[in-house]
Amino acid sequence: MRILVTNDDGVRSPGIRALAEALSTIAEVWIVAPDRERSAASHSISLHRPLRISKVDERVFSTDGTPSDCVYLAVNHLLQGNRPDFLASGINHGPNLADDITYSGTVAAALEGTMLGIPSVAFSLCLRGRSTEGMAASAQFARSFMAGLAQRHLAPGILLNVNVPVGSDGASYRVTRQGKRAYGNEVIERTDPRGRRYYWVGGDELAHENIPGSDANAVYDEGVISVTPLHLNMTSDATREEMASWQFPGTARRDHE
Ligand code: MN
Repeated sequence: MRILVTNDDGVRSPGIRALAEALSTIAEVWIVAPDRERSAASHSISLHRPLRISKVDERVFSTDGTPSDCVYLAVNHLLQGNRPDFLASGINHGPNLADDITYSGTVAAALEGTMLGIPSVAFSLCLRGRSTEGMAASAQFARSFMAGLAQRHLAPGILLNVNVPVGSDGASYRVTRQGKRAYGNEVIERTDPRGRRYYWVGGDELAHENIPGSDANAVYDEGVISVTPLHLNMTSDATREEMASWQFPGTARRDHE
């Protein structure tokens, strides 16, 4: 078994080292990761500038691109002829829960892997600050989970988003659905030394809506690991069906038979 490991915190982060080390006991691990932190890079890909690849160690590479660039370069270039059986992204320093999934570089790397036909899992540890408490438990879970997944069939177009609470036993998990963030849309305004205003976006509160069965409830209310299966295809079939009855003046809906 061959596993491609990547992340958005950078190739030198403690999380990717812990993940690679844990998975190396069950698979041949290749690391291809950004050379610096790319958190909140989302699914961006570098189409308008050249990319550089550096060999860091045996089967360890960094690139100056985004997490998605790393996966693309790994699968279509560095591991050409050695196609990975699985992709594991992380272990991210911080949660990727609820609405924040859409900003996440960690999850985007798994999205990219899924697009390329590789069963992919994103791992995040729900820390704030610089502590690494819980990394060992997260790595332990990642190893058990990836070993188990190798015996299962993950449907094409589906990826798994894993979030580990601080204090996890490294084993207890719940299969969840994506929750909803509750924190404010805060903008902090400051003035720079030259008298010009600048802004910080993105709140830092951990509040979430109380939705039973959600990822955030599992992690913050129940203290268990959350595993959320996500669709790559974002079509809403329910809304598609509802729209079959919509009539807009000046438009002509063409329905399939
Ligand atoms: Mn990150």
